[in-house]
Amino acid sequence: MDEVTGAQLIAEALKSQNVEYMFGIVGVPIIEVAMAAQAAGIKYVGMRNEQAACYAASAIGYLTGRPAVCLVVSGPGLIHALGGMANANMNCWPVIVIGGSSDRNQETTGAFQEFPQVEACRLYSKFSARPSSLEMIPAVVEKAVRSSIYGRPGATYIDIAGDMVNAKIDRASVRFVSCCPAPPVSQADSREITQAVRLLRAAQRPLIIIGKGAAYARAEKEVRELVEVTGIPFLPTPMGKGVLSDDHPNCVAAARSRALLQADVIVLLGARLNWILHFGFPPRFSPHVKIIQVDLCAEELSNNVRAASALLGDIGAVVRQLLETVRSWRFPSDSQWWLTLKEKMTANAQISKSLALQSTLPMNYYTAFHHISELLPKDCIIVSEGANTMDIGRTMLLNYLPRHRLDAGTFGTMGVGPGFAIAAAVLEQTQKSAQRVVCIEGDSAFGFSGMEVETMCRYKLPIIIIVINNNGIYSGVDPKTWKEMEKMGDMTTIAPPVTLLPEAQYEQVMSAFGGRGYLVRTVEELRSALQESLDNTQMPSLLNVLIDPASDLFNYLQASRISTYFGAI
Ligand code: ADP
Ligand code: MG
Repeated sequence: MDEVTGAQLIAEALKSQNVEYMFGIVGVPIIEVAMAAQAAGIKYVGMRNEQAACYAASAIGYLTGRPAVCLVVSGPGLIHALGGMANANMNCWPVIVIGGSSDRNQETTGAFQEFPQVEACRLYSKFSARPSSLEMIPAVVEKAVRSSIYGRPGATYIDIAGDMVNAKIDRASVRFVSCCPAPPVSQADSREITQAVRLLRAAQRPLIIIGKGAAYARAEKEVRELVEVTGIPFLPTPMGKGVLSDDHPNCVAAARSRALLQADVIVLLGARLNWILHFGFPPRFSPHVKIIQVDLCAEELSNNVRAASALLGDIGAVVRQLLETVRSWRFPSDSQWWLTLKEKMTANAQISKSLALQSTLPMNYYTAFHHISELLPKDCIIVSEGANTMDIGRTMLLNYLPRHRLDAGTFGTMGVGPGFAIAAAVLEQTQKSAQRVVCIEGDSAFGFSGMEVETMCRYKLPIIIIVINNNGIYSGVDPKTWKEMEKMGDMTTIAPPVTLLPEAQYEQVMSAFGGRGYLVRTVEELRSALQESLDNTQMPSLLNVLIDPASDLFNYLQASRISTYFGAI
């Protein structure tokens, strides 16, 4: 009899579904699952917190279109992973979480780390189940993989009771399931296509918005053709950046507010009209704007604003349909619309240029980003999180390639950076493409998953972390003010809730594990530390860039304007 364990069945089923990566933290009862995964040829990356492991696994799903696994232990292990599942689900990224759970014969007895895990995951996933027997494991794994990538992508959960992990059955009794193919591609209704093209041809001020759905759909070729054939200006959402290069002549990101407000017809390619796009509502949009909406999720169509043309289907396929119908129509480049957008872009570019060239110390955000952007290679993957660090970084750091920006996303999650960077670097290591991963973090954002620096050092992932350190959340205080506050009494009653330890030496977190740490105060130090880090392809580095703790103050006072503040484009 050819016997097989539950752990082996999971690992082999994952491998046969083309799952290549697993991130997690082992312990009872799932150590054997991780070992079986490695034996089956799946790469296993041990992380330091399940949340970060789940962020990493979900980034693999976004970057490759095939889900990775986040493997966690029972109870608290699984609960830590929920943050990552929620983030993946909100972002519409595929990921499979596999959680060990207590032995079946101990259920309801107060077993070690007992928790209703299948139930708990339901709110954070598209599919949550426990195989009813070892024989069913391959079928459930296939369903979890398929559910994560078919329809709107998202998170799925598989529960494995502890006693199932090492139990054995005869291989002949297992129902094996073949590899689930890539999702079927559907096209939009041809009448809706005709309507869309009619709207476009009549538009005075057309605009194309490119979202991260277009990036996930790998529709860059089709979207480029649509932009270049029609000559319509486009605006990327934060993670839609790079589907077409940020320096493309039709990119009007520098005139974002005006473009959104004055557009009369908007082609929405894989972006939701949620907070990131101000819901599509006035006063940020015209009340008369006509939306041509492309999405593969039927329920998303007409959300917040009734779509004038609802194109249900895959972005690549639907854009090809649009191109076939629009033929050689072209929006004139000498139109009033282009003139007004160009005028605004020139004015805005001048404002950020003058901020970037300020030479006073401590540096401001714009100066730091200006010099970082001058040195970064065009093909690097930019991971970004924080408040102003992410907001200002998004406008100052250009993306030239699709799926080369990962940030706090739809859910505005802080702590995603290190996990995303690890996933991107592990992929780079496999693909040997020599693209660098640069993880630009606010000092507060870095704190959430900072211990993943050890993971980076352990696997020798040459990630460059740049901590833009303003001593706090939104803003902080300088060391002198901090000392004065300490003299005034109990800091729990005095220290502003936004403050963190002034000039904290985060670079030492990196050097503690064998990576290179740099404390940076000046432009010269910034440039030389970044250049050295780019030259070092063997180990990670961390640049702790001390900027003006009050550089942010103006925005802080306006913090109630959350959408301009917290990552909206
Ligand atoms: P952004 O944050 O860039 O605005 P969102 O995550 O809000 O982007 O929106 C992405 C949208 O893209 C989702 O509504 C999702 O259903 C859709 N989507 C994902 N993949 C595809 C695809 N292949 N074809 C069409 N729509 C897609
Ligand atoms: Mg900060």
